[in-house]
Amino acid sequence: MTIEADLHTHTIFSHGKQTPEQMVQSAIKKGLKKIAITDHAPSHIFYGVRNMPRYLDAIHRAQDKYSDKIMVLAGLEFNIVSLSGQLEADEKLLDKLDIVLFGFHKAVLYRDFKSAQHFYLRRYAKDSIEKNTQSIINAIDRNSIDILVHPGHAIPVAHAALAAACAKRNTAVELNASHPDLAKEDFFTYERAGVLFVVSSDAHSRQKVGVFGTMPEMLAQAGVEDARVINAAK
Ligand SMILES: [Zn+2]
Ligand SMILES: [Zn+2]
Repeated sequence: MTIEADLHTHTIFSHGKQTPEQMVQSAIKKGLKKIAITDHAPSHIFYGVRNMPRYLDAIHRAQDKYSDKIMVLAGLEFNIVSLSGQLEADEKLLDKLDIVLFGFHKAVLYRDFKSAQHFYLRRYAKDSIEKNTQSIINAIDRNSIDILVHPGHAIPVAHAALAAACAKRNTAVELNASHPDLAKEDFFTYERAGVLFVVSSDAHSRQKVGVFGTMPEMLAQAGVEDARVINAAK
């Protein structure tokens, strides 16, 4: 299995070390055909993109400049910000993007007190798994989400229910080389549900662009066909 696109990378607009242009240059050097710049959405308290026009402009400039060498996508990594599945306050933001990533992150600005209370104080409680899972499913149902990032990272979830929702909505499930903490049995839960997969570096520096660890082998060993991996060469 050859992975030809890195669809999850960060730049100086959140907490990455390089500019979008430098990440694109690195992707070209590594022979990738496509890269998505996906910094954290504004609701992330520490790393959210603060100047959206400048962010999108920097990506679009790299897009134009290197269009004969690589495809560059403008994206964002959205957060769980409410139990009801809303994303950012500015829902029009999604229309400006080529790719939408979504997942749980600590330290985000919740849309309402009840959601903040649940995710800050109660998400690890025994009886919270269902609520955690349902809020992710709500977001998947409500928005056009291309990729569910690092499922289960820093939040307990019911993977079987998430897998069913992702399969239904064609949301790709991410195998994240920077957070390789998805248990084998949970991976197989997604596999059996027939979801699409994506392998990502979640690079925060140019060296990490296109570094996918053992994820491609894991997919190949499980017999997942290239057609089911959205960033595999077909
Ligand atoms: Zn993340
Ligand atoms: Zn990330």
